[in-house]
Amino acid sequence: MNDNSTDHHSNHNSNSDDSQERSDRHDHRRLGRELDLFDTDPLIGAGLPYWLPDGATVRHTLEEYIRGEERRAGYRHVYSPVLGKRELYEISGHWSHYSEDMFPPMELGSEQVVLRPSLCPHHAVIYRSRSHSYRELPLRMAELGGMYRSELSGVLGGLTRVRAIQLNDAHIFCTLDQVADEAGAALEMIRRAYEALGIDPVRYRLSLPGPGGKYVAAPELWRRSTALLTEVLDRSGLPYEAAEGEAAFYGPKIDVQVADGAGRESTLSTVQVDFHQPERFGLHYIGADGGKHRPVMVHRSIIGSVERAVAHLVEQHGGAFPPWLAPTQLVILPISDAELPNAVSLARRCADRGLRAEVAGPESGSLGARIRESRLVPYQAVIGAKEAVDDRVALRLRDGRRLEPRPADEVVDRVASLTGAHSTELWDGPA
Ligand SMILES: [Zn+2]
Repeated sequence: MNDNSTDHHSNHNSNSDDSQERSDRHDHRRLGRELDLFDTDPLIGAGLPYWLPDGATVRHTLEEYIRGEERRAGYRHVYSPVLGKRELYEISGHWSHYSEDMFPPMELGSEQVVLRPSLCPHHAVIYRSRSHSYRELPLRMAELGGMYRSELSGVLGGLTRVRAIQLNDAHIFCTLDQVADEAGAALEMIRRAYEALGIDPVRYRLSLPGPGGKYVAAPELWRRSTALLTEVLDRSGLPYEAAEGEAAFYGPKIDVQVADGAGRESTLSTVQVDFHQPERFGLHYIGADGGKHRPVMVHRSIIGSVERAVAHLVEQHGGAFPPWLAPTQLVILPISDAELPNAVSLARRCADRGLRAEVAGPESGSLGARIRESRLVPYQAVIGAKEAVDDRVALRLRDGRRLEPRPADEVVDRVASLTGAHSTELWDGPA
């Protein structure tokens, strides 16, 4: 999993004035600063963004969603360090095929350690640390882990070209017979995640090697893994196109491409079949025959790097995240100080249900001004004297709908149910 942040400026013709204007307005760097999501500082360095509380909330929520989906699909999570000895990457092949993207090694006594350019070698070593029976396969190992890239063009303020990357990664160790099902299941997880996130892929790409020496030489293994991925794509019924020169150095991959407002494509999600690293690390499992057999490694990422995924979400939604992902899900607006106790009580009930609610009282301005200020918040619960009497709220939705006043607890139930289901809908009940 190491070429997730390759940009492909492939669609310049669609760069009309309209889309240019939209892409400026929705530029994630601009919105990230305006919405207090993330920022950078020259003293920390280019390509090294930090996350402010609202951005951190979005990121944390996204990460927990991914971990939940992975747990449900039978993945087990591990943690592994972001550093490793140079030898680890010599074995994996990164050192000879990928070193121009790696940070220079650090001298530590007689050893050299490097910031890792990918998580795969650590996971291969973790697999190797215990013996495995064929009964344990497919063994699905997942981690949302840090990796580093010596990006020279780190654009100050952006999340798309970064030097410190948090990758949603997983490696499935399995038999050859299991590869197609596992890769197909990974594609299905990607489809579900895109639905929850409100992301439309622009295309699926079968990424093959191109000319040049950056690939490991093993023609038979390349042929087999390409055939397997082709089978997976054909079985999925998804339209796709093949692209030469986009493979990882150790194998072909399926890339799920998204585009920004200006039509610039990038890869979010990938599924790869790898015969190379199991060989290099001498991985095996004990088969039904009692003998040692070589597993295949399926590398897959559902949302790619967290940085790129959030950048895309910010641009795609113009900051109006799906309700389950919004930093503030519900803003409570008491019309006067008299309704403040109701508002505070409602905020507490929201927090008890795991919802992120805030009270914006009259001290923050007129009701109209507070509503405008909260225009990206999915739910605005207005409480006037009439509603306060029997604990009701007049609910406004971000899309402009205004609902009849209803019991506050009913609103909490409904919002908790919609966000718990990771729905992109704002409302599914009576108006
Ligand atoms: Zn990998």
